[in-house]
Amino acid sequence: MNKDIKERPITREEIIHLLKDDRESVAESLFLKAQQEREKVFGNKIFIYGFVYFSTWCRNNCNFCFYRKSNQIERYRKSPAEVVEIAKQLAASGVNLIDLTMGEDQKYHNEDFKTVLDITKTIRKETNLPVMISPGVISQSLVDEFASLGTEWYALYQETHNLRLFQQLRIEQDYDERMNIKLYAKRKGMLIEEGLLAGVGETVEDIADSLLEMGRIGASQMRVMSFVPQKGSPMELAETPDRTLEMKIIALMRILYPYALIPASLDVDGIKGLRGRINAGASVVTSIIPPRSGLMGVAQNTMDVDEGGRTAEEVKHILNEMNLSVAPAEEYIEYLNVLRERQE
Ligand code: SF4
Repeated sequence: MNKDIKERPITREEIIHLLKDDRESVAESLFLKAQQEREKVFGNKIFIYGFVYFSTWCRNNCNFCFYRKSNQIERYRKSPAEVVEIAKQLAASGVNLIDLTMGEDQKYHNEDFKTVLDITKTIRKETNLPVMISPGVISQSLVDEFASLGTEWYALYQETHNLRLFQQLRIEQDYDERMNIKLYAKRKGMLIEEGLLAGVGETVEDIADSLLEMGRIGASQMRVMSFVPQKGSPMELAETPDRTLEMKIIALMRILYPYALIPASLDVDGIKGLRGRINAGASVVTSIIPPRSGLMGVAQNTMDVDEGGRTAEEVKHILNEMNLSVAPAEEYIEYLNVLRERQE
């Protein structure tokens, strides 16, 4: 892997221009350039992440989300033993990282965060894999505790960097509080992932601002996902955007930040969406879920899960067909050190 790749200077105006230009040839040349940039840093290697969405309870009411508090849905909270078992299963299948995600579950946030810390500690020990935590907004003292366990990543997505839009999407949540705790985690030595949603009412100018902001805050992993309307949510009737937008954003992220880990999420279009996102320059496959584990995805909560489409095996098969392969565990760990060095 090439560790000396520099960021590309693309201006805000150029990003806006590229996003507005809807010619297929423009998109194709962005994808080609993004693939070349990925290859310079990662060769033909792709990382893959196992996803453990261990509690679907949430105290928040984000307008775009299926799991928002007001939605009358069936929810689950997996026991610590179940979570560890699923993580071990994922590790055995060859994933490079375990992504531990939950809604802002009141039981943990208000009463018992120790259980989440214990789960994290056990999984790191039992699987020997890096862990990403996505528990929502937490306190500085909890970040300190995760950092002292050696937890590698803190994922927390603004979804937009337009304050007005943020307030419409993440009802009654504080933009600065969310951003500041992410930056605090970075100061404590954790790597951070930032994210945006495409197709939620943002302008191309907003997208350009988000892309630049992700670099400015030093996000080592950056994800974009197309909005998918969720049953029972206030945005149930809103349309999902054409996927070209998401692909162009992935490509622009790659060209702007060649070193970044950029997900091809299986959570938007299932396994059939993998090739397009990899071809747009993604370097990580996220949302791998073991079939029949009783776990759900986020945007597409059941798509391809029990059919076995979202498994490491299936992903490896498709990547091999694209002349790419999954990086071994040690290569991922080595790359995290590269990202940490950049951050210092
Ligand atoms: S996006 Fe996250 S914080 Fe917002 S309602 Fe859904 S699970 Fe809760």
